[in-house]
Amino acid sequence: MADLFDKIGGFTQAKEAMALGIYPYFRALSVSEGTTAIFEGKEVVMIGSNNYLGLTTDERVRRASIEAIERYGTSVTGSRFLNGTLELHLELDRRLAKFVGKEAALVFPTGYQTNVGTITALVQKGDYVIIDKDDHASIVDGCLMCRGELKRFRHNDLSSLEDVLRKLPAEAGKLVVVDGVYSMGGDLAPLPELVEICKRFGARIMVDDAHGIGVTGGGRGTAAHFGLTDDVDLIMGTFSKSFASIGGFIAGSADVIHYVQHHARSLIFSAALPAGNAAAALKALDIMETEPQHVERLWANANYMRQGLVEQGYDIGKSNTPIIPIMLRDDYRTVLAWHALIEEGVYTNPVLPPGVPSGSSLLRTSYTATHEREHLDRALRAFKVVGERLDLTQTSNELAKTQSEFSA
Ligand code: PMP
Repeated sequence: MADLFDKIGGFTQAKEAMALGIYPYFRALSVSEGTTAIFEGKEVVMIGSNNYLGLTTDERVRRASIEAIERYGTSVTGSRFLNGTLELHLELDRRLAKFVGKEAALVFPTGYQTNVGTITALVQKGDYVIIDKDDHASIVDGCLMCRGELKRFRHNDLSSLEDVLRKLPAEAGKLVVVDGVYSMGGDLAPLPELVEICKRFGARIMVDDAHGIGVTGGGRGTAAHFGLTDDVDLIMGTFSKSFASIGGFIAGSADVIHYVQHHARSLIFSAALPAGNAAAALKALDIMETEPQHVERLWANANYMRQGLVEQGYDIGKSNTPIIPIMLRDDYRTVLAWHALIEEGVYTNPVLPPGVPSGSSLLRTSYTATHEREHLDRALRAFKVVGERLDLTQTSNELAKTQSEFSA
C-alpha cells in the first residue's frame, strides 16, 4: 500500500545543495536596513528586496506604525467582515482608490489573498480566466481555485492572447489577468494593445501591479503610465513592496468592489491586516503622494545599474524597470553565482523553477531609492569579479547585439 509520505524521501534536491553549502533559501538576515544587510555575519549590499522606495526605514513610516500599535494593539483578531475593520482600513480603501484613479478599493490581508479572493469571487462556472504564462503564482492559484476555466497565453504575446480569446464562446464571461510589471523579468505588460484586444473580445482586464504601484507612472502604476486608468477594469496592488508593509488591495468600479467585498472568501475568512501595517501603508501613501523624488531616485539607480550590467556583458533579458534579472538559464550556475556574489558582499535572489519556467533560471536583482552610488558601485565591482570567475557574461559580439536590442 502506498503511503502519503512516500514522496518525501524522494525530495533530495534541497538537502544536496545544503550538503554542498550552497543552499540559498530560508536563510536569515540579522539586520536589514534596506540598502545593506547582515547575512550570516557578513555585511552585504541588498539588491534582493522589493523595498523600491526604501520606506521600510523611513522614520515617519516607523513612527506611524508604532503609534498605531500603541493605540490599537498588535492584531485586530478578526476579519474585515466583522470585528477586524478599523477606521484605518476604511481610510486606506478610500485613499488607495483615489491614488490609482478608481471609484473604490478594498484592502486585503496580503497581495496573495487579494488575487485569490478577487479571481475566485468574479470568475464563476461558465466563465473563463485567461492569464499570461509569466503571471504571479497568486494569480495562478486564484485561477485554480475558481469555478471557471483557466486558459494561458504566451508571455506578452498578443497574437497568442488573440488565439485563445477567439476560441472561447462569445457569450461567456472573460477575465484577462496580467502583471503590470513582471516580477522576475522586470518587463512591462503592453497594456495599450492588451486593452484593445480585451475590448474587441468583450473581456474584462485586471492588472496585478504589485511591482508597478510606487514605481511606474510616477508611482501611480502601470495603467497610469500608459494613460489607461479608465480602460483597465481592476488594478491590484500590494503593501509588501513600495508600501513598506504587508497587505494588498483591489481597485475598480464601486459596484464591482462591493461584489468582491461580499464574495471574496480570502477576505471574509481571514483576519485583517494589523493596525501597525495599515498605518505604515497609509504613511507610505502620504509620502508617495507628496514626495516624487523617491520614485525619481529609484529610476536613476535602476538605470545606472542596468547600464553597468549591460556594459559588463550580462544578459538582463527585457528588463526596463527597477527589477533587473541576470539571465543564467541554468539552475546550478544560478546558485553558484548567488553564492559567489554573497562572498563578494552582494545579496541577490536566485530564482529557479517553479519561480520561472524550466531553463530560465536567473538571479533577480532589484533596486531602491535609498541606494547610494557607493552601494551600486560595490555591487558592480562584485559582478565584475564573479562574472569573470564563473564566465557569466557574453562575448563582446553578443554584447553589441544585446545593446542594440535594448536601445530599440
Ligand atoms: N503579485 C505579484 C506580482 C507579486 O510579486 C507578489 C509578491 N511577490 C504578490 C502578488 C503577492 O503579494 P504579497 O506579498 O502581498 O502576498
